[in-house]
Amino acid sequence: MDLAAIIHETWAELAARRGAGQVADYIPALARVDPTKFGIALATPDGQTHCAGDAAEPFSIQSISKVFVLALALDRHGPKLFERVGREPSGDPFNSIVQLERDHGIPRNPFINAGAIVTTDHLIDDRPVDEAIAELLALLRTIARDDTIMIDGEVAMSESTAGDRNRSLAYFMASFDVLNNAVPDILNGYFRQCALALSCRNLAEAGLFLACDGTDPVTGQTVVSSERCRRINALMLTCGHYDNSGQFAYEVGFCGKSGVGGGILAVVPNRASIAVWSPGLGDAGTSLLGSAALRLIAEKTGWSIFG
Ligand code: GLN
Repeated sequence: MDLAAIIHETWAELAARRGAGQVADYIPALARVDPTKFGIALATPDGQTHCAGDAAEPFSIQSISKVFVLALALDRHGPKLFERVGREPSGDPFNSIVQLERDHGIPRNPFINAGAIVTTDHLIDDRPVDEAIAELLALLRTIARDDTIMIDGEVAMSESTAGDRNRSLAYFMASFDVLNNAVPDILNGYFRQCALALSCRNLAEAGLFLACDGTDPVTGQTVVSSERCRRINALMLTCGHYDNSGQFAYEVGFCGKSGVGGGILAVVPNRASIAVWSPGLGDAGTSLLGSAALRLIAEKTGWSIFG
């Protein structure tokens, strides 16, 4: 299969629709991103990465960071993490608060904002926030093999300025004793992880361990055990697109995690890690063109995990 050709064909077939959807506008740094940006990168276990369009340009990965934070938090705490966060799709938007009261402050899964705040709390654990964020950045730089990967300071600051909903979620959970660290410290970490800037190439390469039983085939680094890898992929499939997860599984059939910056990381076990970026979002805060690109790639490769 000529994967390079498939990536280029997919990009070309969709290029005319660049600009479709609504760019996230809750912070200025995202609102001013050029809506016509469109990149695709596909990394395979043999160490090759095929790219098309704006695949080398860093963008705000936002909620895609929740996957890497989950991997590190599980490494630190193991399944005990799931005493504080569930493993069920929520069927509600990413920043919803409604289920928290009924569920005694325990979020449904690690990918909605409330669940990610719990996961970040566990990543911080008993050390300074800066140390936890440094560990996250170091992991990404290693597995993406790019020491220039940064956290965008302006995005991190405005996440905090516009962060009242996340603050509400965190304080509400704190009222149920679900969090270990002080809310401002946890949110400091959460806002910075959202502000990580990676290119499609970076992201596809960083996600490759999830397609390879937990071990990055290029660096040889075991990021998570194969059992944990399987479970992270299961959570991506069932919860990675919030209240659009069923639709994404139906249309595309890859494990995936979206972010409001317009990126999606998709994982096809044993085959590839794929990153797409197009800032225009659909209803559930998922990249419109990005989802369309993954759907086309799934059709052209026949790689849907459902056969
Ligand atoms: N920074 C965003 C938030 O916390 C991330 C949400 C997302 O990417 N879905 O609201």
